[in-house]
Amino acid sequence: MKAIQVLGLIIAAAGLFWLAPSGQAKDAPAQTDTEQRKFYSVEKGDYFQSAPVVKPDAEWQQQLTPAQYKILREQGTEYAYSGEYWDHHEHGVYRCAACGLDLYHSDTKYDSGTGWPSFYQPVAAENIATRSDRSYFMVRNELICARCQSHLGHVFGDGPPPTGKRHCINSVSLTFVKLPE
Ligand code: FE
Repeated sequence: MKAIQVLGLIIAAAGLFWLAPSGQAKDAPAQTDTEQRKFYSVEKGDYFQSAPVVKPDAEWQQQLTPAQYKILREQGTEYAYSGEYWDHHEHGVYRCAACGLDLYHSDTKYDSGTGWPSFYQPVAAENIATRSDRSYFMVRNELICARCQSHLGHVFGDGPPPTGKRHCINSVSLTFVKLPE
């Protein structure tokens, strides 16, 4: 192949790339993995199988309140001492406000003095995932729901025993369900 032909091919390929509709991937769900995986249910006291919850942005926007959408889907943060659960002491389970997955048991909740609901561990490691968050000139470990990838808060290393972890969670990301004492 002559050099001029190679050049022609490169220009043609670049042209195709440029012409490709760039908006196409935008509306597609961020997560395409539909494989079933195991999550823990407090009510069942056991693991169950579920596919990841994947929805287009427009659907989340319709389902959630503006505050929930801002925090769960756009990594927002509620003001300290403003949320429903930072000073909440009932016996029960805190679920993901977006997909309903059990996240934290009230037995692992403690007063961190931060104004956000704080827990030293999730109901199961399988129900929570972490992502590296480099916003605001800090590197923090973002906590997300393992089933729907919604933003919950951050995890820090200054929590109480037995784990030494502080899961600092937005009240808006949670719904509370009472359990019998
Ligand atoms: Fe979720």
